[in-house]
Amino acid sequence: MKRSQPCKNQDTQTARKPGRRKRLRIAIDGPAGAGKSTVARRVADILGYIYLDTGAMYRALAVLALDRNISFDDPQALGEMASSVRIDVSEDDGVFRVWIDGEEFTHRLRTPETDRAVKLISMAQPVRRVLVEIQRELARRGGVVMEGRDITSVVIPDAEVKVFLTADVTERARRRWVELRNKGIDMSFDEVLAELQARDAKDHERGWGKLVKVEGAVLIDSTHLSIDEVCCIIIGLCEAKQRCSTS
Ligand code: C5P
Repeated sequence: MKRSQPCKNQDTQTARKPGRRKRLRIAIDGPAGAGKSTVARRVADILGYIYLDTGAMYRALAVLALDRNISFDDPQALGEMASSVRIDVSEDDGVFRVWIDGEEFTHRLRTPETDRAVKLISMAQPVRRVLVEIQRELARRGGVVMEGRDITSVVIPDAEVKVFLTADVTERARRRWVELRNKGIDMSFDEVLAELQARDAKDHERGWGKLVKVEGAVLIDSTHLSIDEVCCIIIGLCEAKQRCSTS
């Protein structure tokens, strides 16, 4: 199997960290639109950690399957596709970027077509196996903030800080609708809400890697919280963990 490389800026960020502090693994799971990406990116920035958007990796493979006309009803074929390509990721100026076999997919990841395809490809267990292995490797050195659906339950269940970030479904749909509108994508609020509810259902119903709040994960409901407030809670959890593990 071909592997992903660590983020390009990993060594720079390692050098920036104070010597004796343990470089934590922060795992954030939650449903679509809860604010995971924004929060994870900002927490990583504050701590000088790597930010890893695992949803973007599923999205890139969904785009590739569309390009190659691979049936979303054929998990085996999807898995073979995933294991036969090289997936590279990096983060530049807050943008999480994904390449497959050297071709950049970043700008094709967040379209309504990809939204529909990703919920199908993420049901394919052979695809999940490939991505989980790559993600574990990326987390191995610590100093990462990784967000997705199965990070606390499957990818790094032994992460030092585990968070389940959620928000009311109407508020999550509103955020997604604003995001799409800002990109010039015309969808009604009701369509966005229905799409989100369908994705929630798929995230909960698949067997392996389904979205759950694991024991030990701290539940944060962002419905009435600002991004800064959520980040402060997570940074506080990290500081508490650092203090406990060095004393
Ligand atoms: O986080 P984002 O909405 O970009 O994720 C896209 C899709 O990828 C989700 O709807 C989810 O089904 C899937 N996913 C997953 N496991 C992850 C991350 C994302 O199944 N760790």
